[in-house]
Amino acid sequence: MSQQEPDLKKIITTIPVPVFYQDTRGLILGCNSAFALLVGQSAEQVIGCSFSELISPDARDLHQHADEQILRNRKRLKYYVTTHQKGREIHYVVRKDIFKQDDYDVIVGVLIDITQQEEAERRLHHQATHDALTGLTNRHEMQGILKNTDANARRYERPYSILLIDMDRFKMINDNLGHGAGDIVLRTFAEIADNLRRESDTLARWGGEEFIFLLPNTDSFHAANVAERVRSAIDEKTIQIGEQALNITVSIGVASYPEDSDKLEDLLSMADAALFEAKRSGRNRVMFSNKNDSGIFSIGTQMQRALEEGRLKAAYQPIVDLQTRELRAEEALARIILKDGKVSDAEAFIQAASDLQLSHKIDHLITSRAIKRHLTESRIEDKVQMFVNISADLLRHPELTDDLIRFTGETCRACGITDEDVKPIVIEITEREFLGNIHNAREALDPLIQFGLKIAIDDFGSGYSSFQYLADLPVSYLKIEGTLIKRMRNEPKVKRIIQGIRDVAKDLELITIAEHIEDEETAQALTELGIDWGQGYLFGRAEIED
Ligand SMILES: [Mg+2]
Repeated sequence: MSQQEPDLKKIITTIPVPVFYQDTRGLILGCNSAFALLVGQSAEQVIGCSFSELISPDARDLHQHADEQILRNRKRLKYYVTTHQKGREIHYVVRKDIFKQDDYDVIVGVLIDITQQEEAERRLHHQATHDALTGLTNRHEMQGILKNTDANARRYERPYSILLIDMDRFKMINDNLGHGAGDIVLRTFAEIADNLRRESDTLARWGGEEFIFLLPNTDSFHAANVAERVRSAIDEKTIQIGEQALNITVSIGVASYPEDSDKLEDLLSMADAALFEAKRSGRNRVMFSNKNDSGIFSIGTQMQRALEEGRLKAAYQPIVDLQTRELRAEEALARIILKDGKVSDAEAFIQAASDLQLSHKIDHLITSRAIKRHLTESRIEDKVQMFVNISADLLRHPELTDDLIRFTGETCRACGITDEDVKPIVIEITEREFLGNIHNAREALDPLIQFGLKIAIDDFGSGYSSFQYLADLPVSYLKIEGTLIKRMRNEPKVKRIIQGIRDVAKDLELITIAEHIEDEETAQALTELGIDWGQGYLFGRAEIED
């Protein structure tokens, strides 16, 4: 080597970027100190090691594929790998080139850390697509998402719905309490609404105090439920700004594809018109845009119509003895027949119904139907029980409970059941309905209990401490919350919780019923635990009455 000619090996070592060279099998022939530092070994130790073992072994195929390609094409290439260092993800571009030395192929590679660059790009992208104040998707990005959703809906013939949401009296807040207060209100709304968002939905700030909630695969019926939940969640929230407690409300306009229009622009203006109508008629409400129904009508009207037009139906789901699989009972559930003939879970509407105080009507209707069918279909000899769901809303209407008792009494007598007999009817009540109001519940339930109906606690273990109910009410059945049943198979802890519920129930001589049983394995496990009865798809879905 002449004096002028520099030592390339030494030069490589001074480069602050990891450099290595390897043979065609991927084994390291040499590297610089930056590479040695990266893999945490000395440059000598690294020799003979496999490159993929040192750098992201998960990407072994990727490395191999790159080497094959470079051998074949004899052209430089690059690819991306991710490594994990001290719990952090580091992203690299691997650049490889090939050359021949003394008849051998040598591949030389450089690793360039692009983690920071990627993060900066991500940050920039986020800034460009999101609203700085609320962190929600911004208008510009939303326009693209709307177009995509519209295109997908057409291709797959799926519905979608748009909720246009506007804060009520926002200008007044801004004017009286300042823009800072306005910002807090907007951020609070964004947070509450975002919590109600499903993964596939998008919530965006559309401008000023206006927001847009896009619900893919959702028809107007289900959109109504979401809209009502957004409205009531905001309505219930009090925002504290300094000394001031603010109650804020929103108005919402809803439009759905393809029911209202098959054009995106039309849907947006229809949602806007419905929003205007919601404002005009008093704010804090949800309005629909529906050209088939003389313009605009409210969720209450939709529900009311289903009731009036006889589209609210009872459906019956079997409850069986887990040991013998014999039918022990049925639960009456509410279903709504939509205008296009499809059946919808009325549960999707229950929240809205209860907010609009329509639950009592639904409960009354379903319960009367169920009791009539049950008593007249001579199920009595088989000792099959009928479970009906009763909401707190129904119990607040004594005229309706009285009516149920009178009607049940008449039907019973017609079937030969005397007034003194215990009736084969079980009332399901949900603990959360009566939260903190057990004495009112007891008082309201008393006439029904005196009349000879039994009581089941529904969704037991769903998150509210319900043991007090067992102490205060003459409970006969305990229905164990379906989510617990579903989790039981994979979570030993949940299984022990169910064992605990069983023990309490056995002690108090209650019959336990497991809900949402979908497979034989779960049914077996529950039988072994000594749970008495079961309900779920495994034993039958809810069948709609004729
Ligand atoms: Mg129930």
